[in-house]
Formats: sequence, structure tokens, C-alpha cells
Amino acid sequence: MQTSILFLLIWFTGCCFGSFLMVVGLRVPIHQSIVFPRSHCPNCQQTLQVFELIPILSYVIQKGRCRNCKQPISILYPLAEAFTGAIFLATFLTFLYSPTEGLFVIGIISFSLIFIITDICYQLLPDRLMLFFLLWVFLGRLAIHPHPFSSYLFSGFGFFCFFYLLYQFSSTPIGGGDVKLFGIIGLLLGYNLTLIAIMIACFLALLIHFPLVVSKKIPYKHPIPFAPFIFLGTFSTYFLQDFFTTWLLM
Ligand SMILES: [Zn+2]
Repeated sequence: MQTSILFLLIWFTGCCFGSFLMVVGLRVPIHQSIVFPRSHCPNCQQTLQVFELIPILSYVIQKGRCRNCKQPISILYPLAEAFTGAIFLATFLTFLYSPTEGLFVIGIISFSLIFIITDICYQLLPDRLMLFFLLWVFLGRLAIHPHPFSSYLFSGFGFFCFFYLLYQFSSTPIGGGDVKLFGIIGLLLGYNLTLIAIMIACFLALLIHFPLVVSKKIPYKHPIPFAPFIFLGTFSTYFLQDFFTTWLLM
């Protein structure tokens, strides 16, 4: 098979995953089944046919409008699908020679995308999904652990306890979901890299939040969804872990 066709296939598989992950992220927090009701137009409620569910292509063919009521469909859907496809392809290329780790990372990316959607749309990180995420990271780290597995366990437990105490006894604006997420990220990255991931997350959140507060587009105490920043910090750290590990040893 030609390399370009293989890349296109992997990208498109990622796009299909992106479409499915969006459904999970939008439905699980409101206790809807991810299978029924079938996907429908939010305006006219018309059930979408199979050919209307093809990632990106359906959007292009229908010129970004519902086939029935002609209401515009948000550009965010095809963009999110294309973005997921790109991340899948990048992961495939990065972990070409370590497929087990590639699969582990694909799972983490999938959970992250769902949590980013639930946090942005509902300000919620559902416990049920968090439990599956914890299980995935635990089993993955049990299989792949560059450092002793116990150090990852201590890191996860330590970060969970630290942020739980902050959540309970300080005025830091973090949610209960964030506390569990920090614990799982601690288990995934180990304590050194988790500290770097948290620093990157805080820096990026400040970078986005600060201009919005200064320009009075949002009030000073307006809560912001923090999960997207945690995941951005986590992935930059995970993908650049060799660089950060060398840097820490200097
Ligand atoms: Zn419609």
C-alpha cells in the first residue's frame, strides 16, 4: 500500500473516532445513551442518515447546512474531526516502532478529547468516565514503565492528596473533577513530569485568561474550564519527555 494512502486511512480513522468522541462527550454528562437516539439535527430533530455522518465529507457535500431544514451546522464539528485525525496520524508516526505505547497514547488522547468537550460544554468531568480513564492509565503504566511502577503510584496518590487538600481547605478555584484528574496525570507522568505539565497548564491558562479579564470580556472571578489546559500540559510533557528529563538532570 502506498504510504500516502496509509496516512490518509489513519487520518480518516482518527476523524471517525473524533466524531464518535464528540457524541460521547456531549451525551454522557446528560445521562443520554451514546447509541440512542440516533444523531439528529438540533434544529429540526430530523434523524441523520448514514451518508450524513461521514466525517468532514458530509459537511462539505451539504455545504455546511442541514439537508432537511437548511440550518447552518457549526464548523466546529468538521474542524474537531480533522484535528482528531491529525493527532491520530501524529501519534502513529511518533510511536511507529512501539505500537503498545502508541495504543496506550491513543487511548489517553481519546479520553482527553471527551473530557475537554464535557468540561467546555458542561463544566463537568464525569466520574464514570474518570474511572475508565484511571483504569486505562493504571493498566498502561503497569505494562510500560520506564521508572519503577511504584514511583508512578506514589506520584498519582501524592498529587491526588495535595490537590484534594487544596480543594478542601483553600480558596483555589479548582473543581473536584480536576483533583481526580491531577491524580491520574500524576500516575501517568510520574512526579517530575507532572510538575512540569502543571506549570505549562497554568502558564497557558493565564495566557488565555489574562487578556480576557483585562479587556473585561469576562469577570475576574469567572470560572474557566481547566481540563483543556491540563491535557495540553500533559501532552506537551509526554511527547517531549526526553527533552524535559535531560533538562531536569542538568
Ligand atoms: Zn435540520
